[in-house]
Amino acid sequence: MRELVPYVPGEQPRIANLVKLNTNENPYPPSPRVTAAIADAASKGLELYPDPESTILRETIADYHGIDPGQVFPGNGSDEVLAHSFFAFFQQDRPLLMPDVTYSFYRVYCQLYGIQAQLLAVDEALQIDVAGYRGRRAGGVVIANPNAPTGSALPLTAVEQLLQSQPDCVVLVDEAYVDFGAESAIPLVDRYPNLLVVQTLSKSRSLAGLRVGFAVGQRHLIEALERVKNSFNSYPLDRLAVAGAVAAYEDREHFEQTRQTVMRSRDELTVQMWRLGFDVLPSSANFVFARHPKQDAAALAARLREHGVLVRHFSQPRIAQYLRISVGTPVQCDALVNALRLLIPAD
Ligand SMILES: *Cc1c(COP(=O)(O)O)cnc(C)c1O
Repeated sequence: MRELVPYVPGEQPRIANLVKLNTNENPYPPSPRVTAAIADAASKGLELYPDPESTILRETIADYHGIDPGQVFPGNGSDEVLAHSFFAFFQQDRPLLMPDVTYSFYRVYCQLYGIQAQLLAVDEALQIDVAGYRGRRAGGVVIANPNAPTGSALPLTAVEQLLQSQPDCVVLVDEAYVDFGAESAIPLVDRYPNLLVVQTLSKSRSLAGLRVGFAVGQRHLIEALERVKNSFNSYPLDRLAVAGAVAAYEDREHFEQTRQTVMRSRDELTVQMWRLGFDVLPSSANFVFARHPKQDAAALAARLREHGVLVRHFSQPRIAQYLRISVGTPVQCDALVNALRLLIPAD
């Protein structure tokens, strides 16, 4: 326990009026139908345990993606689903392959469960090189698509290449940001028994506070996850979470409208940051990953905080000069750009 190095979530400040662009939350609230459904669920039946299988939610997600409810495994946020997946599939005598630049929680799960990780370097442009995963002795593969914290997405053909190059182990594709402009691998599930796709309602459906995520895969993988879950917590999803999550899927219009707005703001923010001299990676997510050739990233993050703007900095070697900035409302993006104008002298 003394050696375990836990994941450090982005700061959730208790100070009001900070422009919070550090944890990739959606800047827009969920659909009013979500809050109504939660209020309704809260008014009846809280004395009873919830459905341990979250059947209604499974059916709703399956219906949305055109798959079978038995191919869906919901959990208490995708972090929990990821943890169960690492436990179920990656504890092997062969290493788990993952990019050296990716969601830092993956390495924490490896340490927690004693999984050996092998980090494969992303290229100079911080892109995942799928060809490098071929022919390696592996007990599993995990990638985020779009990747975090870069925002870069792989096309489905590259994901398929990965699935084919490691057919004997589970390839986990974490699609936390997929709704902001990448292609989901869910349509590949029926053809690849080794594919497990994980998604969350925290980002594109504005429900980070509700804690709902899920995995999609063929029945044998979902069954394994069910065994792990039922050996850990029979009721990971409470009644309110299920009611809210189902309502979020039912309001397609709200989902479409908010995600389109976020994508538009992202593209505008990218242009603004170019004008300030930043290099900005092309993003398929609700954040941008950027560096300034003349500004130290950690110092800039600290100074932005003094100006009331929170962004995320990772001190990991290859990305230590980058900032990850969540896409906010137009007002929040303007606040960021104005603060940057004060901090960065014009050439
Ligand atoms: C935000 C995020 C998650 C966690 O999502 P929750 O469902 O809120 O636990 C998982 N993976 C990546 C890459 C993320 O950015």
